[in-house]
Amino acid sequence: MKDCLFCRIIAGEIPAKKVFEDQHTLAFEDINPQAPTHVLVIPKKHIRGLKEAVVEDGDIIGRCHLTAAQVARQRGIEDGYRTVLNVGPGAGQSVFHLHVHLLGGRDLSWPPG
Ligand code: 5GP
Ligand code: ZN
Repeated sequence: MKDCLFCRIIAGEIPAKKVFEDQHTLAFEDINPQAPTHVLVIPKKHIRGLKEAVVEDGDIIGRCHLTAAQVARQRGIEDGYRTVLNVGPGAGQSVFHLHVHLLGGRDLSWPPG
């Protein structure tokens, strides 16, 4: 997707601080971190968001979460972290390439805002 910010990061056209990469997923630092650890995990396949995902996307969406868990393990934040998908503009989704936010390294209140 030429006009997708995160596809362009995957393609190396836009720089990002990569923290992990495998065949299916890429993890990189959020440009505007909301916690000491704020990493975005994206599928290398363009999926617009969770509500547009289809059954065939289940494996790669699961893999994004497993990548988040691996980064959390590496960062030593397993006492408490949060994975978040903002779905739709009303929930704050601003980039329409599915991404899992990995937030940790500070107390995380519940319910979230
Ligand atoms: P959303 O609001 O869609 O759930 O999350 C999008 C996230 O992408 C935001 O947390 C925002 O800070 C991050 N972001 C937006 N543009 C860039 C960018 O160019 N590089 C990186 N690394 N993160 C970005
Ligand atoms: Zn994309």
